Amino acid sequence: MTTLTFKDIWKMQMHGIELFEKKESLTKAELLDIQDTIYRLQKKGLPSTKIIEALQKQNKKIAQRWKAERAFWTESKKFDTQKVGEAGEELEIVKYKVILSPHACEKCRGKSENGRKIFKNSDIAKAEYGHVPPFHPNCYCILIPVV
Ligand SMILES: [Zn+2]
Repeated sequence: MTTLTFKDIWKMQMHGIELFEKKESLTKAELLDIQDTIYRLQKKGLPSTKIIEALQKQNKKIAQRWKAERAFWTESKKFDTQKVGEAGEELEIVKYKVILSPHACEKCRGKSENGRKIFKNSDIAKAEYGHVPPFHPNCYCILIPVV
């Protein structure tokens, strides 16, 4: 399996459209800031629409609403997957699988072996993107424990 860095995933091509042009791709520091904002505002209980507005103002690269939305949903998915992993470790769960979204793309189908692949805690713990959902920006696939 190829290892994707945060840069790769943000520059990834999907449906033939380059999602983040080079001059607009986020730096690691910017991405960390975005993750921090999402985490902070979610903790405060703000709805997604408000968090997306805050992201639009925070970084001009994602000032357009669809870009801020994509950043929000992609990073939220990363948090969700991490939470599943943390809960799983506490419950001593060692296997996970992916529920594909109804319109899952080739990438997600491939990486999850059409939902049949068994993922481990070590897959979730990997720092880079692309080992577990989100497999790409705007990925709606869900990681669940296998009990
Ligand atoms: Zn997906």
